[in-house]
Amino acid sequence: VVIQVPGTSLKLLGTQTQPRMTAHDVVCLHTMVGYLKSTDAYFRDQGFGGTESHLGLGGKWGSDVEPQLDGKTWQWQDVAFTADANYEGNGRVISYETADNAPQDPDDIAEWTPKQLDEIVRVVKWLCSREAHKYCPTSWKCYKEGIPTSLIPNTLKSSRGIGYHAQGTASSMPAGAERWSSTVGKPCPTSRRIKQLKEIIIPRVRDEEDNMGFTADDKNYLGYIVGAITGANNNSTIDDVQPALRDGLNAAKEGRDTTKKVYTGVEELAADFEAFKVSTDAKLNEIIDLVSPTEDSTDA
Ligand SMILES: [Zn+2]
Ligand SMILES: [Zn+2]
Repeated sequence: VVIQVPGTSLKLLGTQTQPRMTAHDVVCLHTMVGYLKSTDAYFRDQGFGGTESHLGLGGKWGSDVEPQLDGKTWQWQDVAFTADANYEGNGRVISYETADNAPQDPDDIAEWTPKQLDEIVRVVKWLCSREAHKYCPTSWKCYKEGIPTSLIPNTLKSSRGIGYHAQGTASSMPAGAERWSSTVGKPCPTSRRIKQLKEIIIPRVRDEEDNMGFTADDKNYLGYIVGAITGANNNSTIDDVQPALRDGLNAAKEGRDTTKKVYTGVEELAADFEAFKVSTDAKLNEIIDLVSPTEDSTDA
């Protein structure tokens, strides 16, 4: 059985020649300085004899545009076998390359797109789950615990969790830490994406709630709802607003995992819009602030 991440396209690079993994300790994010299409061609050229990562994510740039690969993941290597993207960590690191705008200067690597963020969260969440490791040797930690959904502090062999390539390329690292590249100082996946990994992806993978009890997915979902409500004028009736609420509800349901809590809230809201308008203005304002913290209030 090939261990494949659900929802990805399996595109093995050829006959299997790589050794088996000896552990699943880390999911590591990379950036390609290129596109999924071009990186696929580059990896495929030498099959498993050359460089490769386990997974690759498409973007909205270059040769990924026409085949609409933004947010699509291709799987090049069976997760049970090693890939060659993390040097001394290859035996225990699952590697995930991501497409970018391929600039001359790594400082100009663009942020991950919303579709890329959603897909990274989905894929990393699965890789960290116990489900992903049910075929692993029963003596392995991943079989018993999955992979922790926190950022690893360093690349010591004892570190397990979510990481990024540059953690293993720094000029100064703890004694015994794995070098994840033969090139010292490789900044992959570069500053904007490292920030997104820490501030957006890991909290979403962990389903962390803010102090109002909303997860990141709740907030996205509430964004649809608030848009529907604030888009309607004050004299709207439930019949005017309900279609927009329904559209938002359906879009949100199709697009992401939503929590029962929020789903139920919108069902009630849609059923009693007039009551909602009168009784929960303050709560609505809180939600608007929450989902659009940088929005200027230009109302008179
Ligand atoms: Zn890298
Ligand atoms: Zn495993």
